[in-house]
Amino acid sequence: MIEYGKNISLRPFNTFGIDVKADHLFHLRRREEISEILAHRVFTGASAGMNSVLVLGQGSNILFTNDFRGTVIRNEITGVRVLDESEESLFLEAGAGVIWQELVEYTVSHGLAGIENLTLIPGTVGAAPIQNIGAYGVEAGDVIVRINGFHLEKREWLMLGNKECGFGYRDSIFKRELRNKVLITSVVLRLSKVFRPKPDYGGIKEELAKRDITNPSIRDISDIVLQIRRAKLPDPSDIGNAGSFFKNPTVGKGEFENLLKAFPDIRYYRQGELYKIPAGWLIEHAGWKGYRLDDAGCYDRQALILVNYGRATGEEILALSEKIKSSVFNKFGIMIEREVNVI
Ligand SMILES: Cc1cc2nc3c(=O)[nH]c(=O)nc-3n(C[C@H](O)[C@H](O)[C@H](O)COP(=O)(O)OP(=O)(O)OC[C@H]3O[C@@H](n4cnc5c(N)ncnc54)[C@H](O)[C@@H]3O)c2cc1C
Repeated sequence: MIEYGKNISLRPFNTFGIDVKADHLFHLRRREEISEILAHRVFTGASAGMNSVLVLGQGSNILFTNDFRGTVIRNEITGVRVLDESEESLFLEAGAGVIWQELVEYTVSHGLAGIENLTLIPGTVGAAPIQNIGAYGVEAGDVIVRINGFHLEKREWLMLGNKECGFGYRDSIFKRELRNKVLITSVVLRLSKVFRPKPDYGGIKEELAKRDITNPSIRDISDIVLQIRRAKLPDPSDIGNAGSFFKNPTVGKGEFENLLKAFPDIRYYRQGELYKIPAGWLIEHAGWKGYRLDDAGCYDRQALILVNYGRATGEEILALSEKIKSSVFNKFGIMIEREVNVI
């Protein structure tokens, strides 16, 4: 029997720890249960037409600002299996409800390369393609071969290959044309048996040097990423948060040169003709790092993260984010965009 509840608190199901309720909540544990859910009176009764649906993983990239008037389907489909293998690669299919870090640990311990730089990103495998999770120079889209899912409006199964997913920086087709339309049930990844480390971002190289490692293993990279992230990021079980609240903006050459004149110590990464500016730097230099109003705050060790110190509401955190956004715009002329999904 499928687990179902009515008027359920979502507090345990979002890492900001926001206390809102959903009208209906289903726990989806096997892909076959989708038809059972859709046959439920919530979807077939008189008010079914008014019923909006939200697919939820671990709620680590969501800010709830209100009770959710509709149905939440929490994806808890587990299981990892090998689909195919060649001399160089191994193809894995992971259930959308598998915890991303458990998949990373599986690959690292089996000597499979590709997602070790994505160690310790919270959330589920099924959410990884949604914003094309990324860290330390690697994105999920680099290794995703295809996704399997269910189109909630058309009520049919679908399979999308890597190109069709339209991956970009914290972006995919699931944030655009297919927003809230597809329930991803599994993801197929291509892992490599040949390891080419990617140590160029975020202090990995420096840490390798400190540890005197010249020829790192997959495990070395994963351990270092784990250590760096633990030192820098708040653990949601201690302080509510959803990681980076904003995306890093990019600007063209002309705009960048003006910024550099006005702010000679500005941090940036060159990407061809474009310049990516760390949003955390902008927010910090607009004076927000460590700011707190009641229980809503800007984290004191990394300004890109907004936090809930206890009883903040989603509206309070959203209001703080809007103040930060306009203050960054007033100071730097850059409009930063939200990364977190506001519901
Ligand atoms: C401390 C911390 C650090 C973080 N660091 C990073 C980082 O380095 N890089 C990064 O990219 N992100 C980072 N994040 C954000 C977050 O971990 C990722 O976005 C993650 O993929 C969200 O997974 P989730 O299961 O919690 O998704 P949720 O928050 O539950 O959902 C996110 C979105 O995906 C949709 N969704 C979820 N599952 C499915 C599914 N099966 N089918 C269809 N739609 C679905 C939801 O409807 C929602 O729109 C961080 C978050 C935290 C709290």
